[in-house]
Amino acid sequence: MFNALVVNKDDEGKTSAAVTEMSLDQLPAGDVTVAVEYSTVNYKDGLCVGPGGGLVRNYPHIPGIDFAGTVEASDDPRYKAGDKVVLTGWRVGEAHWGGYSQKARVKADWLVPLPAGLDTRQAMAVGTAGFTAMLSVMALEDHGIKSGPVLVTGAAGGVGSVATAILAHLGHEVAGVTGRPETADYLKSLGAGQIVAREELNETVKRPLEGETWGGCVDAVGGEMLARVLGQMQYGASVAAVGLAGGAGLPATVIPFLLRGVNLLGIDSVMQPYDNRLRAWERIAKDLPMDKLEAMVRPATLSDLPGLGADILKGQVQGRVVVDVN
Ligand code: NDP
Repeated sequence: MFNALVVNKDDEGKTSAAVTEMSLDQLPAGDVTVAVEYSTVNYKDGLCVGPGGGLVRNYPHIPGIDFAGTVEASDDPRYKAGDKVVLTGWRVGEAHWGGYSQKARVKADWLVPLPAGLDTRQAMAVGTAGFTAMLSVMALEDHGIKSGPVLVTGAAGGVGSVATAILAHLGHEVAGVTGRPETADYLKSLGAGQIVAREELNETVKRPLEGETWGGCVDAVGGEMLARVLGQMQYGASVAAVGLAGGAGLPATVIPFLLRGVNLLGIDSVMQPYDNRLRAWERIAKDLPMDKLEAMVRPATLSDLPGLGADILKGQVQGRVVVDVN
């Protein structure tokens, strides 16, 4: 028997989440059974712990889009009992049962061996948010980061915090956009040299081009803010579009692309190919200072998750939550 956070839906379509005792034979089919040690809380988890936002297909459901733990049993030659593994993406925690559980059974293809230099707790302090931040930094590097500060929007959130710490560690000047002025000291401790108030950037685009300010951007916000930022990029600079915390629309013009050669780079963490996953996790172990990562962490347990899920949807979680499922 083991414990999991199980979400049920009643006849009126209302969902409720509770820590529930489960048995191993209730787990779905899969090649590898993992004794989960830690999970985390991402924006999508907030959706899946609540009404699902269209992501969850069937109830009862176990959310948790990320987990790290130890292989307990494996039918796949790539993994054996005792191996440390990490999982992000592949719609685990949405279409498949996820990591808010002491046991998980998944396809071997979805797992990544825990990278050298990280333990399972640190891997979940990174989680999908940090993994995606690293993918964004790699995409910006592949296209060339220009001189001038690199802008990080939604900076005090999970993606933004990790992106800030990595970019600063790599020697870039970082400007963090936040709607929470009280997080300024926290962002500076992660390496942000400049704090930009959200209000300065979330107004509708009035002029398609403004001063060439940013040498790159990791954007977790989307919407009006992304539209504004496009018009402020340096000539030939790139924006990694990661998130939609501020909206899924893009009320922009194509002028920054045509007159300044600005690149808009789409970042998807869910279906990322295996080789690039390995590359990103290795870069995380190398380029994310562990003391900065630790400073982002807020610990939690399975029973805290319903509240934390609601908080992250309201943009009220700072940094990264690490859930000790045991
Ligand atoms: P968080 O909630 O931790 O961070 C989002 C941050 O965005 C908030 O902390 C807040 O930062 C800012 N924000 C929230 N609401 C608004 C608003 N209305 N206008 C402007 N800024 C706002 O979430 P994550 O960091 O985990 O994820 C960020 C985004 O990235 C989400 O949309 C998520 O779905 C997406 N995502 C996408 C992935 C992909 O594969 N493409 C993978 C992971 C996440 P502050 O308080 O500093 O202003």
